Amino acid sequence: MSNAEKYVPSAREQAFLEQVENPRYERLSINGLKPFIDGRVADEMQGFYSSDELDVLSQLKGTERDVEARMPVKMTRHYFELAQKSLPIRNLVKATPEETENLVGAEDPGHQMDYSPVEGLLHKYEMGLMYVVSTCSAHCRFCYREELISRKEIKRQDGTVAKKGMAQVGEVTDYIRRHNKLVAENAGRHPDTGREKLREILLSGGDPMVLSNTKIATWMGALAESGIEAIRIGTKEMAFFPDRFDDAFLSMMDLFHETWPHVGVRMMIHFNHPDEFLVLDDKGDYIEEDSGVLKWHASTQRAMEGVVSRGWLRVENQSPIIRGVNNDADALRIMQRALKRVGAENHYFFCGRDIIAHKAFNVPIEEAWRILNESQKGLSGVEAHARLSITHYKGKTEVSAVTEGPIPGVPGTENGVVIFKLIRSAAAAEARGKVSIVRRNPEAIWFDGYDDCVIADEAGLFDYVRVEAPSSQEPSSKELEDAR
Ligand code: SF4
Repeated sequence: MSNAEKYVPSAREQAFLEQVENPRYERLSINGLKPFIDGRVADEMQGFYSSDELDVLSQLKGTERDVEARMPVKMTRHYFELAQKSLPIRNLVKATPEETENLVGAEDPGHQMDYSPVEGLLHKYEMGLMYVVSTCSAHCRFCYREELISRKEIKRQDGTVAKKGMAQVGEVTDYIRRHNKLVAENAGRHPDTGREKLREILLSGGDPMVLSNTKIATWMGALAESGIEAIRIGTKEMAFFPDRFDDAFLSMMDLFHETWPHVGVRMMIHFNHPDEFLVLDDKGDYIEEDSGVLKWHASTQRAMEGVVSRGWLRVENQSPIIRGVNNDADALRIMQRALKRVGAENHYFFCGRDIIAHKAFNVPIEEAWRILNESQKGLSGVEAHARLSITHYKGKTEVSAVTEGPIPGVPGTENGVVIFKLIRSAAAAEARGKVSIVRRNPEAIWFDGYDDCVIADEAGLFDYVRVEAPSSQEPSSKELEDAR
């Protein structure tokens, strides 16, 4: 019997779970290319792929360039309707042959599994990320979890090859309790690793919002009882199927808050483009309300109002900058302004990860910085909170600045420099704030594009030591020391 099966909820969790409602949701998702190829989709969807596009994609089926083997095709009815008037929205969900032209990339981007002490949990310093499901309502072609969603077998550091497993409630909460007990007994630091309390958990995947309310509630209750101080839900459901944020879901969240009021709850939403929530007219322009603000789709507005009106439920948007989807400063400016107006924060924009086939999606690092910087011109301070982040193996790293001119007296900087700053270290909080400075390379789409350009590497981004896989729950202090 697994730990998950043995997990017994507390009386408080049980009382909470008994009140949760689970309506059925009709997302009307289209799964795969086959319904388009066989003509089994609704009449109005028949032209979503042209017959030439379907011919080319069919010919790739079963070859190493099979687009569906790389990333399953999936789209909700709601997203299809948005796509009717928006090329960026179509590009986000529509498979193309170009995406498997160059399959270079990492099968486990950022060596995530190096930080996995139990299956389905990544423990990075004070925060844990859990894989609780391996699908979403629709699938972004650029997904940085393509290896999880397409259920690929990946090689781990210890040489074993396996699919990434899903987190189990019993195993994860056992681990949290064990880790935090040792930390509490040792004056706030884990005796072997030096890590602090594991106090924040992100429910991720895949999209937790495709699970039932009871499953989400089970995770939240169990995490709250295990001593977690803040829970995040990472979701793109507000773009794919906003009706999921209905009264039954919000009542469950209210009840959670009443039961564990000390636990912070953050909804990490994922809008890539304003076309995902603003209404377009037939000419492709956003429609203005009489008040002068841009009009939202009614279902998305309802979903957003439902979460931001809670107050205690923080809403933060984060998005990668992707070629053909949102590498557009004007669109990002509109999005940041519109989200902040309704009470959602602009948290991070990301440079795309070095996933398999990333060259089809990622824009160069310096270009991403230029687009975001350009988009924030004219925004107020609170609207322009978002930073550009790129997830290094060592931790989240801000692309802080790209200069136009040379640094006087520093040879090789004639074309300017890029300044990276480590903002969250996967291994040790002390590393925060350290910087690396490199000569510019406008072509670089990942750190290796700067390997020959390093001027100063205080953060160690270009000379890092990979931690050993956590065979005995956590890396040793020596390994973490090396990683600092
Ligand atoms: S919503 Fe997130 S996890 Fe799901 S397909 Fe898109 S990027 Fe991947």
